[in-house]
Amino acid sequence: MRHRIAVVGGGPAGLTFARVLHRHGHPVTVLERDPAPDARPLGGTLDLHEGMGQLALSKAGLLADFQALSRPEGQAMRILDVDGTVLRDWQPRPDERANPEIDRGQLRDLLLGPLDVQWGRGVTEVVPGAPDGVLVRFADGRQETFDLVVGADGAWSRVRPAVSSATPHYTGISVVETSLDDVDTRHPGLARLIGDGSVAVYGVNRAVVAQRNSGGHVKVYAQFRAPLDWHTNPDRHLGLNRRTDRDADRDPGLDLSLDPGLDPSRDPGLDAGLDAGLDAGLDLADVEAVRSSLLALFDGWAAPVLDLLRHGTAFAHRPLYVLPVFHTWTHVPGVTLLGDAAHLMPPLGVGANLAMLEGAELAESIAAAPGDLDKIVQTFEEQMWARAVKWAKFTAAGLERLVSPDPTEALALFDEVQAS
Ligand SMILES: Cc1cc2nc3c(=O)[nH]c(=O)nc-3n(C[C@H](O)[C@H](O)[C@H](O)COP(=O)(O)OP(=O)(O)OC[C@H]3O[C@@H](n4cnc5c(N)ncnc54)[C@H](O)[C@@H]3O)c2cc1C
Repeated sequence: MRHRIAVVGGGPAGLTFARVLHRHGHPVTVLERDPAPDARPLGGTLDLHEGMGQLALSKAGLLADFQALSRPEGQAMRILDVDGTVLRDWQPRPDERANPEIDRGQLRDLLLGPLDVQWGRGVTEVVPGAPDGVLVRFADGRQETFDLVVGADGAWSRVRPAVSSATPHYTGISVVETSLDDVDTRHPGLARLIGDGSVAVYGVNRAVVAQRNSGGHVKVYAQFRAPLDWHTNPDRHLGLNRRTDRDADRDPGLDLSLDPGLDPSRDPGLDAGLDAGLDAGLDLADVEAVRSSLLALFDGWAAPVLDLLRHGTAFAHRPLYVLPVFHTWTHVPGVTLLGDAAHLMPPLGVGANLAMLEGAELAESIAAAPGDLDKIVQTFEEQMWARAVKWAKFTAAGLERLVSPDPTEALALFDEVQAS
């Protein structure tokens, strides 16, 4: 019996789900909001873990293609102190294949293969329990019904409200992303600093991470604790990070940082930390103004680290949001969620891996016993929740340690992960 199955979202979760179903000869409709595969830059590189993203690709029959495309040398990781001292320098063994990197665009192309994605089909609402199945409404006013709608539409899922009232909340940590092109030719010194993989520098309540993508492209992420309105509210402009790295050396007890459980907008202590000279609202579209703000925020850090920000070509503000750590819902026949739509977590190298594994597992279960679709989905949801909660706890705790009042916590976290 053939069910009418739709997956909303052509990201890692949705495409892996569709590709594995396709491999088993099961038709699936992929509904993607982007008007075309190349409509927007997809973001930085992803490391795919052996037992997760790579396992999913092997279920899709794509592991060999992934191995040919991916960058095992991208597993290299260097950690610097804010003064530029190299604290750690991990280089992968020549045969190391545990977490190779791949550009998101390359991964999307790999997964797309023969799939017939419906581009430009933004979903606005999913209504379960319609007479003919689950109703999907589109931004262009059209609607269709399916037997199963899988929401793989990311953090701000339009499918999620059909099963859950949860919405993402701000972690208290923001990221400003920039990038360098053709780094080996244009910035050879920075290319050596970054090496084949990543370089990370952790200070008090802030960090700079640079990651090599393919083709000499580098993504740079400035991360810092700040209220969500740090760029518009002049009274809080970067004030949160006033405690300096020198303060940390002198007085480890001094702590102007946020309690992770505290609402940043209500902490009266923050106003004590205003930075002179940065008292106007910041226009995030003003490249030079954002660059200056970042250089002020990381003032005193080693020159090559500041150069990563200085040479950035454009800046994108990405406040980090998460769903509640234990996000479950009462099963709704005909609708489920995968990936970030189900369990948005801090970006600590797990989200895409989980999303892909879930997509592959749900597709395999459907292909193996397509008769009782609802029972299969229910069993899948319970397995997904049990695994996701462990990673949600791990990544939430990890983010607190990476962007922490005590930068030695970041180093300790890396040491623990490398040892395990
Ligand atoms: C800076 C950063 C670095 C990261 N690095 C890693 C890493 O190294 N390893 C890792 O595992 N994870 C990483 N992650 C996390 C990872 O990016 C996500 O967990 C992953 O992309 C989730 O995949 P997804 O398919 O669930 O959602 P998404 O990737 O968000 O894909 C959702 C898709 O749905 C589409 N869509 C959205 N709304 C609609 C709609 N209404 N109708 C139709 N289509 C819609 C979108 O256009 C998109 O194509 C990182 C995240 C960030 C922010």
